[in-house]
Amino acid sequence: MNTKDIDVLKAYFKEPKKIVFVAHKNPDGDAVGSTTAMAMFYKKLGHQVQVVLPNGIPDFISWIPGADEVYRYDLQNIQSKKAIDEADVIFLLDFNALHRVGDDMQNGLEAFKGDFIMIDHHQQPDDIAMVTYSDTSICSTCQMVYHYIDALGQTDLIDADIATSIYTGIMTDTGSFRFPSTTSTTHRIIAELIDKGAKNADIHNQVFSNNSYSRLQLLGKALTNLVLLEDCKTAYITLSQEELKQYNYTKGDTEGIVNYALSLKGIVLAGIFIEDTDQGIVKMSFRSKGKFSVNQFARNHFDGGGHDNAAGGRSVDSLQETVDKFVSIVPNYKQELLVSYEI
Ligand code: 5GP
Ligand code: MN
Repeated sequence: MNTKDIDVLKAYFKEPKKIVFVAHKNPDGDAVGSTTAMAMFYKKLGHQVQVVLPNGIPDFISWIPGADEVYRYDLQNIQSKKAIDEADVIFLLDFNALHRVGDDMQNGLEAFKGDFIMIDHHQQPDDIAMVTYSDTSICSTCQMVYHYIDALGQTDLIDADIATSIYTGIMTDTGSFRFPSTTSTTHRIIAELIDKGAKNADIHNQVFSNNSYSRLQLLGKALTNLVLLEDCKTAYITLSQEELKQYNYTKGDTEGIVNYALSLKGIVLAGIFIEDTDQGIVKMSFRSKGKFSVNQFARNHFDGGGHDNAAGGRSVDSLQETVDKFVSIVPNYKQELLVSYEI
């Protein structure tokens, strides 16, 4: 963050403010971690705080400190709208454009007359905030939250709960410190967070040793559905609505499944296609190794985006049509895929 922005922020928060913290729809560990950490931090500074998320927090991260005080815009609509209307400032965390919160809440945010502050690591952030702290090279918004608090000279306020929230977001967005975005700085911050009381082994257990029997069965089904396009170093998985129903799908159950496709030796591009007949869409997640940008791929073909190695998209076509489109497009990228990543 530049010094001008830091001065603006210090002056702005001199007086007590009403602050709302918002993250993207279908919140992940980074979204929940960054909003709850920031809310706890600003509460300690004497401000009135409220986290409002577009929809529910999946089970595997619902234990994050402060998660039980979050308003869901879809279920606690009146309270959420009131909090937004009355706020002086809204932090937009872990997303780059207002449409990422979903239609209903997007309207609520667009009508907001106060100030926005954006902290985010996605590419091409919209220019809508009083202060935008954007850095696509940083692995997670949670790491940026740490840098933000550090820039304000207030890391002494990071207690065990705040440390736990930040740790969880960094951990989940880096695939447990595996992805290339993990740097020595990330590890230094993680060490600091452990010193401040984040119980690292417990956090890993809460997130990863939390599978239900039916979720593992669903994973089994997904792996059975895995298809290889070997000459393009690509693998993909499909899950139909019927299959999800058969294995008692609940929110978060499909999280991370795409990484199994990417874990195949020699695979550079992985995708998962999940049918959502309620919304009338197919939700996609893409992952890549090396230089192949799934952000660009998702933007070009599937109304989506994200990061170079992890992105998402959507389609209003049927599951079969969407997969057919994917299979027909991928060969156009064959050259890029073949040279993207070589061990
Ligand atoms: P996931 O596949 O885990 O849902 O998302 C991977 C990354 O891409 C996350 O950083 C997520 O925020 C981003 N992402 C997922 N779907 C979309 C989308 O439709 N549009 C954009 N711009 N980013 C997305
Ligand atoms: Mn993130």
